[in-house]
This record gives sequence, C-alpha cells and structure tokens, in this order.
Amino acid sequence: MVLDFSPGDRVGMAWLAGTCGDCRYCRAGRENLCPGSRYTGWDLHGGYARYTVADARFVYRLPEGPPDEELAPLLCAGIIGYRALERAELPPGGRLGIYGFGASAHLTAQLALGRGATVHVLTRAEEARRLALELGAASAGDAYGSPPEPLDAAVLFAPVGDLVPVALAALDRGGTLAVAGIHLTDIPVLEVQWSDTGHSTLFFPGPDSRLHHFTRQDPSGQAPRSSDRPQSSSTPERSGPAGPREPPGGPERTRPSNPGDLGRRVALRREQLGLGREQTAARAGMAVSYLEYLETSPSDVERGALARLAAVLETSVTRLLGGGPDLPPGRASAAAHPVLEELARSECWERLSTDGVGRVALGTATGPVVLPVNYWVLDGTLIFRTAADGPLAAAVGRRVAFEVDRIDEALRTGWSVLATGDAHRIDDRPALAHLKQRDKPSPWAGGERELWVRITPTELSGRVIRTADDPT
Ligand SMILES: [Zn+2]
Repeated sequence: MVLDFSPGDRVGMAWLAGTCGDCRYCRAGRENLCPGSRYTGWDLHGGYARYTVADARFVYRLPEGPPDEELAPLLCAGIIGYRALERAELPPGGRLGIYGFGASAHLTAQLALGRGATVHVLTRAEEARRLALELGAASAGDAYGSPPEPLDAAVLFAPVGDLVPVALAALDRGGTLAVAGIHLTDIPVLEVQWSDTGHSTLFFPGPDSRLHHFTRQDPSGQAPRSSDRPQSSSTPERSGPAGPREPPGGPERTRPSNPGDLGRRVALRREQLGLGREQTAARAGMAVSYLEYLETSPSDVERGALARLAAVLETSVTRLLGGGPDLPPGRASAAAHPVLEELARSECWERLSTDGVGRVALGTATGPVVLPVNYWVLDGTLIFRTAADGPLAAAVGRRVAFEVDRIDEALRTGWSVLATGDAHRIDDRPALAHLKQRDKPSPWAGGERELWVRITPTELSGRVIRTADDPT
C-alpha cells in the first residue's frame, strides 16, 4: 500500500489504531471486527498526547480550514454514526429515522441530510428536538411516537431496548434498523412465528400492536431456526442480541411475573367462559401467540383487536381496560391464599406516587363526609383543589383523613394508604403561582376550583393484600 503523507499534512487518528490486516474480517473490509485490533489510548499511547506514533494506514487526511474542535468529533462520534448509517442501508434520497439525538446522532443526521435524505428525529429531550429541527430534520417527535411517514431505514442511538420494536414498527416494508449502541437495555419480547410456508410473522408489542409478515426464501428447504433475526433487524456483531427465544407453540413458557392488567382480565374472562386460548384467538381473528402475548405481557392493544376480543369474551372494551363505571369494583370472591401485610412509611409514599385520585374524609355538622379529589404530592404534603363553596371547603383548618387505594380485579389483590393530618388553605402567593404554573393538581371535575388546600400528614399507614402465589 502506498501512502503519500508529507511532513506538515493535517491528519487525524481515530479509536481504531490498527488491525492485523490478514484475518477474514480484515480481508472482508470489516477490520473493525478484527480479533487483533488495537485502540488509541487503550493499547497505544497517544489519545491525549502532543506527539504520537500512528500506523499510517489508520490515519485520516483532514481538510484545511475547519478548526480542530469541529473535526475531532468526526473521528469518534462521527465514525460510529457513519458506520451505523452505512449498516442502515438508506437508499439515496430515502427517509431516515434517528432514535436518540446525542453526540453521534446529531453528526449522523447532518451527514444524511447532506446526502439528500429526509431525516425524522425521535427523541425524548425537548432541547434535542429543537436542535434537530434547526439542523434541518423534517420532523422531531417523541421517541415512542410515530414518524409522519414510514421509514426506509432507522438508526437506534438511544441505548434503550424498548425502542427496538418501536423503531421496527416505524419502518416501511423492507426497511432496515441499525442498532448503533454498544450497550443496550434488554430488547422486549419480539414474537417471531415461523410457518412452513416460508412466511414469518413478527408481533409488535408497541403502542399500535400489529403483525408484520416477512417472506423468507430458504434454499435448504429447512424450517428457519427460532433464533434467526427478522430481516429488518441488524445488530452490531460486537454486542450480540439476547439469547435465542422459545418460539410460540414450543414448550409451555412460565408465566412472567408482570402480565399487564389487561392481560389478566382477558385471561380471567376467558377462563370464566371456559374458552381455550386457541378457540378464543380463532374467534377473535388473531394469532394464538398474539393472544398469549397479550395475556402474559404488559401491552397496549390496537382498538379493533380489542373490540373483537371483547365481543368473543361477551364483555366490553371498557371493562377489559379496567373501567366499569356502572358497577363497583371487587365483586369477585377472595383469592385462594390471601396475605395481608402492613406497608412501611416509604412504601406508602411510593404508592401515593406523584399524583392521582384519592379521597378526603372529614367530619361535618351533619356527619362524616368522604369525597374523591385529584391530588398532587409536593414536598411531603398532599395538595388538592376544591370549590370555595363546596363541601370540601370545610376541610380548611381541620384535621382530615386522606385515602388512596387500588385493586386488581383479576388477582383479587389490592392496597390502601391512609394519611391523617391538618388541612390548610394555600394562600402564599409565590407557592400558588408555582402550583398554577405547573397546572397540578388538575381537577377532573372541572369548573371553578380556586381553593387550594394542603394536607400535611402526621400519620401515614398502608396495607396490602397479596396472594401467596403472586409476588406482586
Ligand atoms: Zn484482522
């Protein structure tokens, strides 16, 4: 190899400082996978040095003009993003989705834009979305949202496995998702169902659960293995995906400890009617493994599928979703092995969470009164709003009780937290202004509720009913 660098030439070194040049990866042009690779600042001195020795084959000629601080990021974050973009196989002028918008992603976006791509950025941070639009992205939305059009390719920069099915679902047919992160949280269940007709089905657990069908050509005529990845998923070799999964229809899987409430209700109702899973799925026009997925994993379901399921189960969508506005909750008989336990003070605060609906109880001239309110937890106090002339206005200046509870209809478990303390009107102007700015708590009842009340709990207790067979 002839390299004609001259003294005084402007060059840059990247993280990859050298490879063997002889192994099958090096020969295939994938020298970054070389087992004998060496790295700047890791195997070799020089990452932060004033002078260093470098292998000329791994040195890049840099243009005169741009300052060092603009070129240096291209040699690190830029290279990572460039590789991911190459792996994403974005067609010329194609539609690219970028999930996460940090150092590498914002460089990659500019590269893709410079090549004429339409770039959609999907990221959590408001500031990053603004930057994306400034740089010329066609849209910038929430990471779990949908881009305004199907994507030809996507690169996942955020180290969040939950986004893998979300990004796959955003792809157009034949699109490619490149996972750029070296570290990634667990990728959630991707149900892949292989059939002997050469089709495979990918079940998306995302906000708009749906099925994708892939057609595979297998020249050997053998059934594909369950550990095969769907064609649209490409993961970096160095950070392998989670181990092979049991295909649906394989050995019975143990029930995960955290099926969603919807799944529990569906399974319970199905059992009440004595319907098998296959029978139910067939009647509702869905795959058995999709129904299994619904019953065993926390999930959102597409409304049409839910309506069909509700019809088969002789119930309503509202009831499957946990609403039953016309009936009180908790009408089922007790679980087989209930266990009643006290909650620690910290657990009580955890259950109160940040906001929700609770009940205020107070004594009045005509007897005790209990009323539901939207509340907000702030600095160890509970805040609610009420009408100045309403029954809860009497709480001001009194000792009141405040209660929150939740039941699980399917498991016949539940918990309650009770706080007792003095209620005061909030009339401190800065505090009120702060609360109003946050727009919390926001009373569902609407109307004029200009009396802001703060309860300072002095006593706090809670109890939980678990079942001996369920750890939740
Ligand atoms: Zn090599």
